[in-house]
Amino acid sequence: MSRFPDDPRPAEANARPIIEVADLLQIEVGRGSVERQGPCPRCGGKDRFGLNARKNVFLCRHCEHDGGKGGPVDLVMFVRGCTFPEALDWLCGPKPELSPAELAERQRKADERKAAQAAAAARFRAEAIGDARRIWADSVPAEGTAVIDYLARRGITREMLPRTPAALRFQLAARYMIPDGAAGWREIHRGPAMVAGVLGRDGTLTAVHRTWIDLDRPKGKIVLPRPDKPGEDWPAKKVLGAKKGGAIRFVTPRGADTLVVGEGIETTLSAMIADRMGAAYWCGVDLGNMAGQRMHGKGLKYAGIPDMDDAEAFVPPEWVRRLIYVMDGDSDPRLTRAQLLAGIRRAMVARPGLRGWIVPCPEGADLNDVLLGKVEIDATEGGGDDA
Ligand SMILES: [Zn+2]
Repeated sequence: MSRFPDDPRPAEANARPIIEVADLLQIEVGRGSVERQGPCPRCGGKDRFGLNARKNVFLCRHCEHDGGKGGPVDLVMFVRGCTFPEALDWLCGPKPELSPAELAERQRKADERKAAQAAAAARFRAEAIGDARRIWADSVPAEGTAVIDYLARRGITREMLPRTPAALRFQLAARYMIPDGAAGWREIHRGPAMVAGVLGRDGTLTAVHRTWIDLDRPKGKIVLPRPDKPGEDWPAKKVLGAKKGGAIRFVTPRGADTLVVGEGIETTLSAMIADRMGAAYWCGVDLGNMAGQRMHGKGLKYAGIPDMDDAEAFVPPEWVRRLIYVMDGDSDPRLTRAQLLAGIRRAMVARPGLRGWIVPCPEGADLNDVLLGKVEIDATEGGGDDA
């Protein structure tokens, strides 16, 4: 049942392709059949504003908490600074006078389009998971490969980590693909890569995280300059598949009740090397994944309140009594902290009795020492402040 029983326009407007609506609003974004990035029509920047055709949404990383996120109607409200009814008028014209039969028909068509979009998204997800599984099958154990040299280059030596976790493997000829307009994808490099398996909640592989290796570089990672953006490089690390809610599980000792989650592979391994607690160590892939969706609105940017409606977000397994999120140094530590806080609070709601901490990246220090200066998260701690 529609929330607007006598107006077909909200459903119709939100079933319109986001890229088409962005064109109507004359937003200048880059090319790409699925994702497009460019400056935000409200706050500028270079590539903080993005459209996702598959999910039919937009997001400005900067205005995210100020209306800069959502579907087609939200986009009109955001760019034109108008109300919901005004956005509908602008996009669809005035509310039509329709008979109940006409109304039902228009509603049905809009629902059909939405369902087709959802089906396409599900198909895309299944294909991406299939691609990730093929890459995993094509990879070999990390022992005796460039993965060991790469990790040593990152300060994680053989002596520190005598056995490389099985979650890390090696691919000799990993293809680096970039989006190539409507045509799809184009290969710009093929070479050795560290492959990390991302397991979903049910323990099956849903994505792979790859780091392209170049041992001639100081950091051991490949450098791929972008001809289209002088001075910028393509990222040396990429994730393929469905990572949401998943983690790279390095070690899960029998009987462990403590789970340590870091954002990066190297950070998490560093914490694991320093372990004296017999804890489990999982890499959360990225901050957004560790946090899940958060509540937005005035004063909530740094509040770290999880949106419990996010059914796909990462939640630790039932055996976890203590959850420790390792915080990396970041350009915006308040925002990082808010994200980690949201993830910890979500876990506390989902797993009653669980206790959570956020600790700074130990960088070779003993995690037990870090824990002595611990800050325990109070699940009832709320509020927050404005940006
Ligand atoms: Zn913005």
